[in-house]
Amino acid sequence: MIDKVIKLLVGLFSNKVAEQAKEKVEEQPSLNKPKIRTTDRKISIVIDPGHGGSDPGAISGDLKEAQLVLEISACLVKMLDQAGHNVHITRADNHNPLSRNERIKRIKAAKANILVSIHANSYHKPAYGIETLYNSTKRGSKGLASYIQKSMMGSFSSHKDRGIKERNRLYVLKTMSPAVLVEVEFINTAGDFIKDNTEKIAEAVFHGIQNYIEKKK
Ligand SMILES: [Zn+2]
Repeated sequence: MIDKVIKLLVGLFSNKVAEQAKEKVEEQPSLNKPKIRTTDRKISIVIDPGHGGSDPGAISGDLKEAQLVLEISACLVKMLDQAGHNVHITRADNHNPLSRNERIKRIKAAKANILVSIHANSYHKPAYGIETLYNSTKRGSKGLASYIQKSMMGSFSSHKDRGIKERNRLYVLKTMSPAVLVEVEFINTAGDFIKDNTEKIAEAVFHGIQNYIEKKK
């Protein structure tokens, strides 16, 4: 009888150990399996404010591209987060320079489903309008660019629609799929517009991303 009880206890104990071990194994992220299961799939988005740190981007008067796109990106991150997505940002402040390699590393480390880089355009002559750049070799990028451009033009219909443009050589657009880069306006002609509408611009980009996600379902 004692033997039987001991056997049973040993049996229970080893089952427990086996179960705990199994749980441990299952807790480890598998290298082969995708991290997100299709049943509870959450969209993960990486927002990349251009430039930063010692690289101010384009400058017009006292306006700096790096600062303006950071403000737009911060609003955008908040909106995407509130919509229930996993959101990453390549830089959250303007203090530290972000090297090309570090930016690529951060984008890839996010293992996101969507990349949206935010920039302001500039030209040595007066130029106007909104455009969205994409890499035609990266799947889904053209579609995402179209949705964002359409949403931007819906919100800012008095602005020139420069359309979506293929820019396969931009390094940031080579990092993942889909990836797009939004040029929100020209800082040299519409700097004040950008400065005064950071939230509205973020909202337009947000709706473009949302429409893309909805249509993809
Ligand atoms: Zn830029």
